[in-house]
Amino acid sequence: MTDKAKRSPSTPHRASQGNRDFRKRTQRDARPSEAAASQPRSAPVAGNAGAVPAIHLREGREKSLLRRHPWVFSGAVERIDGAPASGDTLPVLDSAGKFIAWAAYNAASQITARVWSWNQDESIDAAFFRRKIVTAIAGRTGLNLAKDSSGMRLIHAESDGLPGLIVDQYGDVLVMQIGSAGAEHWREAIADILQDICKPTCIYERSDSDSRTLEGLELRNGVLRGTLPETVEVVEHGLRFAVDVAEGQKTGFYLDQRDNRALTETLARDKDVLNCFCYTGGFSLYALRGGAKSVLSMDASADALHIAAENLTRNGLDESRAEWQDADVFVALRKLRDQGKTFDMIILDPPKFAPTAAFAEKAARGYKDINLLGFKLLRPGGLLFTYSCSGGINEELFQKIIAGAALDAGVDAQIVHHLHASADHPVLLSFPEGAYLKGLVLRVAG
Ligand code: SAH
Repeated sequence: MTDKAKRSPSTPHRASQGNRDFRKRTQRDARPSEAAASQPRSAPVAGNAGAVPAIHLREGREKSLLRRHPWVFSGAVERIDGAPASGDTLPVLDSAGKFIAWAAYNAASQITARVWSWNQDESIDAAFFRRKIVTAIAGRTGLNLAKDSSGMRLIHAESDGLPGLIVDQYGDVLVMQIGSAGAEHWREAIADILQDICKPTCIYERSDSDSRTLEGLELRNGVLRGTLPETVEVVEHGLRFAVDVAEGQKTGFYLDQRDNRALTETLARDKDVLNCFCYTGGFSLYALRGGAKSVLSMDASADALHIAAENLTRNGLDESRAEWQDADVFVALRKLRDQGKTFDMIILDPPKFAPTAAFAEKAARGYKDINLLGFKLLRPGGLLFTYSCSGGINEELFQKIIAGAALDAGVDAQIVHHLHASADHPVLLSFPEGAYLKGLVLRVAG
């Protein structure tokens, strides 16, 4: 039995190894809490400690809430009555004292509160969470998400009405990630409900993203219910991938790219493919199954590459057509250019360069750099699959950056597909921040 298999709820997670810090920096997801970093800081004023606990908004600052955006920024708060603890549910009131929502309070965050419900009559209790979780799971059942797949994002935080809560399913293992004081408060109840509804072998908690620090929450990584199997595997469109839920990136796998990987497979036949930022080989395996002539895959994480090579064997794919390179993509692309190498298809799926709009300018330089090099390495008529999972870069800006890169590379290119995260990562209309992943498939002139 491995160390992982033996881990119990009370066993602290062993110190991470290798390039852990690097990997943590590159974790990507919709991280609502990080968006708070770009908001002006202005600590809410404590009100009357003896009064009924409530969040009182400044005059005119209820507008975004009335549009059902689920965050209360500290700058919008006039005062906090009562002496609430972080994680407590409080009513949010406008300046006239009118009820707007029930929200989870967090004294430590620039997002002072995140809305649970807009309905004054609703009680925020275990039954509320059960209803929300049942609704989230049922909503996915009708979507024909993916054939021959055992992985799914069951709960997508704000977009499923559960701010700060992410739950990913890998077969009979659930991985839960908590990023808000409210979800943290209900952590045990949520785990009980998930256990009861989904009956997993294990619920593993990966509440160790840096954004937790901004929320004043401690980092946590370990088994929450059951026992972690020695090997966790997810099947995606019939392809099998090992998932390192304890130490891999995010919750262990990038479920958001499932449909986009499937598209790659349909276009890969007889092509020489370059897959940059390959992680555990997702796009590479699809390209190989799709009949690619060769697939060169690169990542800076040796652990991820190790799993990627194993995944290739796991699926009985032809190793002779695959090459794995432990490399910094920024350097490696330049080397390939200098060597005069070219490809028919290039995939660029980098980590999050801009968690918030405040990082957009620097991130734009990074995106432009790799895309410019990508365009230069493409043969005439070649395809570039390019992605951004940066919350701070919207679709319009991303397209502009790519247009600039093509111009500087001296190529004409057409957009043939606009891509997003798979349907198990829905985006609440009133919460555009949920649409963090955007992609373009471009065909350069032949
Ligand atoms: N396409 C992958 C997910 C990519 S996540 C999939 O479908 O599963 C981003 C990856 O970029 C991570 O694996 C991370 O290790 C890697 N990475 C981050 N910075 C890098 C760099 N400068 N060079 C190479 N790889 C890098």
